[in-house]
Amino acid sequence: MTVLVIHGGAGGDGPWRGLSDLDHERIECMKELLKSIGTRLEIGELSALEAVKLAVEWLEDEPLFNAGRGSVLDENQRVTMDASIMDGKDGRAGAAIGLQRVRHPIDVAFKLLEQEWPIMFHGSAADEFAFQQGCEMADQNWLATNLRQAQWSKWKQAALRPGTTDEDDMAALDHDLENEGHGTVGAVALDVHGNLAAATSTGGMTGKPAGRVGDTPIIGAGTWADHNVAVSCTGVGEAFIRTCAAHSLASNVNFLEMTLADAATSVMNAVEPFGGRGGLIAISKNGEVAMPYQTRLMYRGYYANGEGKVAIGPEDYGIE
Ligand code: ASP
Repeated sequence: MTVLVIHGGAGGDGPWRGLSDLDHERIECMKELLKSIGTRLEIGELSALEAVKLAVEWLEDEPLFNAGRGSVLDENQRVTMDASIMDGKDGRAGAAIGLQRVRHPIDVAFKLLEQEWPIMFHGSAADEFAFQQGCEMADQNWLATNLRQAQWSKWKQAALRPGTTDEDDMAALDHDLENEGHGTVGAVALDVHGNLAAATSTGGMTGKPAGRVGDTPIIGAGTWADHNVAVSCTGVGEAFIRTCAAHSLASNVNFLEMTLADAATSVMNAVEPFGGRGGLIAISKNGEVAMPYQTRLMYRGYYANGEGKVAIGPEDYGIE
């Protein structure tokens, strides 16, 4: 049995409002990805690690998601991207923080995983490592789309108005500012050999302070994979860091012997008091899937046994 699960971020408050115009493109993107990579995973052409890397690269290339091209802009109007990846087979991991010059942040994390030491690079050293390793480079003008520039301007204006520069506004997910929902991306996979892997990539949050690091590149917070569980999180990163969310989920399964669904719910309950609005995707070695979220929406989908589904709100859509 093989399973591929992806997410494209979670956000928004209040009841489901239906699909936006841009959501149709996101649905098509997720469907194509799941069918293409899910099928290759199924016939044993890809390992779990290769599948999550390729899935995240695919989502990084879709400008409607907040990762790679189309990442949101920080307070200085710059794209700064974080990513991490973990192989459950042997516990190898890689992570990159604050990348500004690469097309695929997950490729930088993957190259660190392959080298095994060091595990993390940040800032200009991470970009330089990417360049030295032959990762595809990109410039800020290409990474920052018109939509993201418009979102940043809206954020900036709102922040200048008295009373709007409160902490919640600064911590708001970009979805809340634009009401469109464009998120961090992630993938978890189970391959034909029974191995698991997880990967996550993000531009963070619109208007984040320069240098701010969320949960996405923190192994154990935004990303985790071991022999039994693989997890990728999305949401207000600080809460996922404070609760070691992804690793907590795995511990719930590994040591407390919870079902995957209970373990995932328990983590969502734990992040909530810290303001951790968001969601996560998780799979177990038995092929169970959990995709809980406590926001208005979460872009998500899975492919297993020749069939799959994608969803944003309560309705789901089959993959032919
Ligand atoms: N978790 C990401 C961060 O805190 C944001 C997100 O998932 O939307 O940077």
